[in-house]
Amino acid sequence: MSVGAVVPFFDLAACDAPHLDELSATARRVIEKGWYILGAEVEAFEEEFAAYTGVRHAVGVANGLDALILVLKGWIVDGRLARGDGVIVPANTYIATVLAITQAGLRPILVEPDPVTYNIDPARIEEALVDKPKAVIAVHLYGQLAPMAAIADLCKTHGLLLLEDAAQAHGATSDGRRAGALGSAAAFSFYPSKNLGALGDGGAVTTNDDSLADTVRTLRNYGSRVKYHNDLIGLNSRLDELQAALLRVKLPYLDSNNACRRAIARAYRQNIRHSDVTLPTVTLDEESHVWHQFVIRSFDRDGLARHLAECGIQTQIHYPVPPHLQPCYRESLDHGPLPITESLHKAVLSLPISPVMTQSQVSAVVSGVNSWRSSTMSKES
Ligand SMILES: *Cc1c(COP(=O)(O)O)cnc(C)c1O
Repeated sequence: MSVGAVVPFFDLAACDAPHLDELSATARRVIEKGWYILGAEVEAFEEEFAAYTGVRHAVGVANGLDALILVLKGWIVDGRLARGDGVIVPANTYIATVLAITQAGLRPILVEPDPVTYNIDPARIEEALVDKPKAVIAVHLYGQLAPMAAIADLCKTHGLLLLEDAAQAHGATSDGRRAGALGSAAAFSFYPSKNLGALGDGGAVTTNDDSLADTVRTLRNYGSRVKYHNDLIGLNSRLDELQAALLRVKLPYLDSNNACRRAIARAYRQNIRHSDVTLPTVTLDEESHVWHQFVIRSFDRDGLARHLAECGIQTQIHYPVPPHLQPCYRESLDHGPLPITESLHKAVLSLPISPVMTQSQVSAVVSGVNSWRSSTMSKES
């Protein structure tokens, strides 16, 4: 990363700076109480996050990967899934989604995404029914809701469980319903750079299913409902009191932070004009996208990234290598050809976006992209 960049990719300290006093006072309050694991702060955050999401239950857990694993393991405990069952997952997701499936002893069924939205494509779910899936994981990639109405219909028709990976979509809303309330259960991550981030690791499961909520609550704490009595073979995956208290400070700012991200995305989409750059497309309402990442595409992605770096603009790639091509899965993951996924990973580039970007930083990014002389343009001139 270039020192003294005009536009850093993401400045976490700047995002938390407006809340420094409130966060410090809260940390102090928790330390003075001297109670760190499973207490009043976690309970209060769970209630507040469930109310925000519009579901009956939120269960605080250690991170987003565990949230996914705990739902899948919970469904196995509850008899709704069995070891080896197939779970449909978009092939272009962050690897955590696929890891959760294999860690829970289930079988990933990779499907190609819709190349327009980067989200799972209901038509591909239908095609994958021949592989006898028992569940679908819909990832709201980059912060945009997957087409949940169509997916939920399909799942209902074919008796499939529907898990939302909402790790990038805190607050995304469609028809008045939020990410986390659109399937049978959802997993959230509060990794620091997510739209709602802790000051460390954190995660949550949301659901309206009373039985699943109780099972996940038990599994996250050594499978124990009563101390030193273990009903289930559980994990240690708890959200801690300090993180829960800090998340309670930040949750009330989530909607306004998402509105800032939306305004930047609007400026980018209105002002970036380049024949070799494809801008992101929003297919549902404005509120259905919370712009965790602003992802553009170009056939010469690396050339564009180099040009932007020369302009002092940091970029990232989400993600350079898809899960099925990672060394850890190359031998063991069964899948058909995935040409859409593989071409997307070569073309995508994420521009800086965050609630604290200034007007002049946004303009610098716009001029940076617009001033790029791509290889086709150099040939023409
Ligand atoms: C961040 C993320 C996760 C994992 O969350 P952690 O808290 O880092 O474990 C899972 N899925 C997606 C899509 C993510 O972006």
